Amino acid sequence: MSFRNRLHLLAAIALVAPVLAVILLLAANGGAGAERRDAQARQGLRTAFGLYAARRAEARRVVALVAGDPQLGALLARGPSLALERRANELVEASARLVALTVRSDSGTVVVQAGPRSAVAASEIAPFARGSGIGAVTASTVTAQRLLGDVRRLTGLEAQAVRGTESLATTRSGLPAMGAGEPGAVEVGDEEYQAAYGTVREPAGPPVRLGVLAPARASGDAPVDGDRVLAAIAIVLLVITLAAALLAFVLLRRRLDELVVAAERLRGGDYRFRAPVYAGARLDALAAALNGLSDELALKDEEVEHGRGELEDVTRRVGDAFASGLNPDALVDLAVRTAVERCAAEVGRALPVDPDKMRSTRVGERSRELTEALAAAERLAFRVSPQEGRELLARIRGDGRTARGRTAAHAAEVGGIHALATALRARVSVGTASEYVGVISIARREHEFSDSERDLFAYLAAQAAVSIENAFVHEQTRQQAVTDDLTGLANARRFHEALARELERTRRFSTEVSLVMADIDDFKRVNDEYGHQQGDAVLVEVARAMRDQCREVDHVARYGGEEMALILPQTDLHGAAELAERVRRAVARKAISRLDGEGELSVTASFGVAAVPESAVDAQGLIAAADGALYRAKRAGKNRVGRAEPPRRSGARDGSPGEARREANV
Ligand code: GH3
Ligand code: MG
Ligand code: MG
Repeated sequence: MSFRNRLHLLAAIALVAPVLAVILLLAANGGAGAERRDAQARQGLRTAFGLYAARRAEARRVVALVAGDPQLGALLARGPSLALERRANELVEASARLVALTVRSDSGTVVVQAGPRSAVAASEIAPFARGSGIGAVTASTVTAQRLLGDVRRLTGLEAQAVRGTESLATTRSGLPAMGAGEPGAVEVGDEEYQAAYGTVREPAGPPVRLGVLAPARASGDAPVDGDRVLAAIAIVLLVITLAAALLAFVLLRRRLDELVVAAERLRGGDYRFRAPVYAGARLDALAAALNGLSDELALKDEEVEHGRGELEDVTRRVGDAFASGLNPDALVDLAVRTAVERCAAEVGRALPVDPDKMRSTRVGERSRELTEALAAAERLAFRVSPQEGRELLARIRGDGRTARGRTAAHAAEVGGIHALATALRARVSVGTASEYVGVISIARREHEFSDSERDLFAYLAAQAAVSIENAFVHEQTRQQAVTDDLTGLANARRFHEALARELERTRRFSTEVSLVMADIDDFKRVNDEYGHQQGDAVLVEVARAMRDQCREVDHVARYGGEEMALILPQTDLHGAAELAERVRRAVARKAISRLDGEGELSVTASFGVAAVPESAVDAQGLIAAADGALYRAKRAGKNRVGRAEPPRRSGARDGSPGEARREANV
């Protein structure tokens, strides 16, 4: 069931249910009237018994008084007589309380009856004198008529009394004989009563039966007609209320529909739509809130649009950063540019401490005042503070982590111009503490930089420092990967790369390149005689001698073990052999200190020289040719330079006379 149908059903129930309830209430009231009359009758009967008991208690006191009358006592002692009857009547007449006096014989026969026979609630006293024939004296203080009158007066109900089959009294003529009548509904003419019955014992004779009857239109039931009028009014009021509720419901729905339309328009992105606002009601507060939301969303829409523009900008910058190959100079430049734009500055710059480690850059207006403010902030960034002392100590102890500290933006103000500066600190080589490499600063007129601008600036500066540090670490790691640890010469890998590059250039520009391979003579003996460490020291010295003899453009490499190689761009075989000879002499001349302190030692080396295009056309051929020449130099007695032969023609063999001649030429 839809929400709408459910609402309709609820409205119908709300309309019908209270009406039904009132109808049921009224119907139930008829049964309740009978019950109430029954309760009234029983309450009346209890009142009648109460009155009866009170009268009997009174009769008990009165009969005691009567018994004490000497005259009556004497007559009673003599037995039944006219005088006794006279005296009894006198007593009844004389007493205000005594209503009837009865004297009975031993056998129970009434011998004297003074007062009416309808007297009830009697009390008896007996016996008086043996042998007189008198059994008992009974006194009553009330007649049945009087008693029932009291009941009616107190309860407003009808009453009747019978003794055996004899009717004693009734407060309304025409009541049916009670007999052993069951309590319940009794009809008299066209009137209806609810009756309750009870029986009381008398000292003599049959018991007295009392009946109390509550009429159908007794005082308690009287306002029934009034109730109905009130109920009718209540129903009318109820119907009016429900009609009003229904109307309110309809109005509410119409209003809600309007709000739903407004919300739908909002969802559709129509932030300019206004929901109608009437006056005062809570729903109108909702409509107003919805309109407020529209305004807010319209504003946010603009902000998002703006933010998208900024995001694009940032994305482009990240792209630029990638394009720069994470070049630290480009990244520092980017950091300055971004800081100037994002912090709304007019000028920004980065200055190096050591131009070898960082490049200077500048963005924005060049005016003297702005530059002065930048310089003031930059001085602050380098000012020594107590914190600086701690960091210096940490650096001396080699605790790089502590020394790094937190990058902070230092603010300065010069003639209304505000500037921020942060010193850039980076670790420029692995295993050392960070050091100052430069400073970044920005400045603008009039407005001071906010905390968030300072934070952003400090962040960008820190990132620039990190990029510088990464560049240094990267370069160092790269160097380590291609450098021989012991001699500092290029390693074999670097050698092969350089050779390939030089050969490519040779091909392109039709020039030549030479290769010299060198091997220390009898190096094993150095190790054996002086130890491996001495061998290492010899390797270092020979490497230095080779480097010293070479040009900037030459590549000097440790090819492996005690073998070294020289790549000589734009050098032919002849030139290469000359250089090799110079190196050979330099090595042989070198006096190398002995590690044991016992003087010096010297070594010699043999060399093999080859060139492209004279000896070979490619790297493999060139290396093989140089190797072959070296081998021959060793065989010829070491400490000499061997030249490669021209590329082999078929039939040519090692150890040909040409080779011997060339080696002899060296
Ligand atoms: P030749 O004159 O024929 O070249 O004789 P050699 O002893 O120099 O040649 P050999 O190949 O027999 O021995 C080379 C030795 O160089 C063997 C090796 O232990 C030693 N060597 C290789 N690399 C190093 C190094 O890095 N340090 C030291 N101390 N010795 C090394
Ligand atoms: Mg060797
Ligand atoms: Mg050797």
